[in-house]
Amino acid sequence: MRFVPLAVSALALAMPAAAYAQATPATPAGQEALEILKEAIEVPTVAGRGNVPKLAEKLTARLVAAGFDPKDISFTPVEGTDTGYFIVRYPGKDRKAKPVVVNVHLDVVEAKPEDWERDPFTAVVENGYVFGRGASDNKGDTAMMLAAVMKLKRSGWVPSRDLVLGISGDEETLMRSTAKLAEALKDAELVINGDGGGGELSNDFQPIVYSVQAAEKSYADFKLTVTDEGGHSSRPGSFNAIGAMSRALAKVDAYRFPPQLSPLTKAYWEGTAPNAPEDVAEAMVAFAADPNNTAAAERLSARPEYVGLVRTTCVPTMVNGGHAANALPQSVTANINCRIFPGTSRVQAGEILKQVIDDPRVTLEMMDDGSIESPESPLRKDMMDAITKAVHQRAPGLTVVPQMSAGASDSMYFRALGIPSYGVSAIFMRPDDEFAHGLNERLPIATIDPGVKQWETLLREILK
Ligand SMILES: [Zn+2]
Repeated sequence: MRFVPLAVSALALAMPAAAYAQATPATPAGQEALEILKEAIEVPTVAGRGNVPKLAEKLTARLVAAGFDPKDISFTPVEGTDTGYFIVRYPGKDRKAKPVVVNVHLDVVEAKPEDWERDPFTAVVENGYVFGRGASDNKGDTAMMLAAVMKLKRSGWVPSRDLVLGISGDEETLMRSTAKLAEALKDAELVINGDGGGGELSNDFQPIVYSVQAAEKSYADFKLTVTDEGGHSSRPGSFNAIGAMSRALAKVDAYRFPPQLSPLTKAYWEGTAPNAPEDVAEAMVAFAADPNNTAAAERLSARPEYVGLVRTTCVPTMVNGGHAANALPQSVTANINCRIFPGTSRVQAGEILKQVIDDPRVTLEMMDDGSIESPESPLRKDMMDAITKAVHQRAPGLTVVPQMSAGASDSMYFRALGIPSYGVSAIFMRPDDEFAHGLNERLPIATIDPGVKQWETLLREILK
């Protein structure tokens, strides 16, 4: 991915270049969020460097200064890792009621300084953005959420029940801390997750839609293997391992899982249709009304941004086989990557693939990647109303739709325990500014003030 300086892309697209010119947040809470974000970016919480506890320590100092009791703050290392989970309890009026959990993560994806235009672990404020690894994933929301929570604490606000900040430390890699965190907080009423959902802006900075992440597809890799005795390539028999694997892969490639519609995707299609181009909008409405409408399902599946919401998808992603140009292959392996619709288990998806391949010489094995299955969260009216209210005070009237993501976020561990979880990032940005996991990751300064306010309003609404 190549970084295009804002001024150049602005010229090319004839956008108002001034919209992101805001150099610093206007409110004290926004300024505090920016300070937290800068401090967080400068602690490289990449897997293997052991820095997550250091960042938790810095945040603890801030929380204590804002009035939190040190007894209510803990960092728990997870055995066998260099990370752990961080819990902050904000005592509420009813200490017996199930707590509301706010989840974010402190770790970031690796970044190679030599590939970046600026040092990824130095927070640089430039052209209306904060640059640095984690600026958007997930230190931006962590900072805005913490600034809102500290503001509430200082103001003397007491939530109706306990508010628990449940913060993981290896969301981007093995999610061991997430598994332990979810276990430690399994009595939660619900989870709101800052690392999912969010607002999309048009190229001219107008809000287009706000998404609430309420489900994610489960992830699975299946390894296909074909073995054979091999031999000299001048003496072929009736069976060839590469030939057999090719036929198997062609079948997988051609196979389409049946279209599916859930309460969440139905609401997504209906909510998205009014802003979609006409031909797609028609297909969305038709598919939401009848998932057996094959023509509508195919029209949506033809678009990469929608295919994952129509059905389970499984695609060949890697092949490896043969050992010499003049030898019959003895072994061929391939990887099939699946993104599975909630409601279908990973084992079931594997069985379907076996039937599709229909060849006893091709073996199929599910790889263990730490991924788990999780159900869709119900679209609770109280939650959707609270989220909509918080979004509307920064973007009046904006469409709010539930969303299913390709996974995987911390939410899957909570959902798997039966705890509804809602991705409610307070970042509004243009798709062009989305560099999470990539080079030159950045957060628009302009999203910070309204983002802190969104977190504050949301917490006040849910915990009133
Ligand atoms: Zn993340």
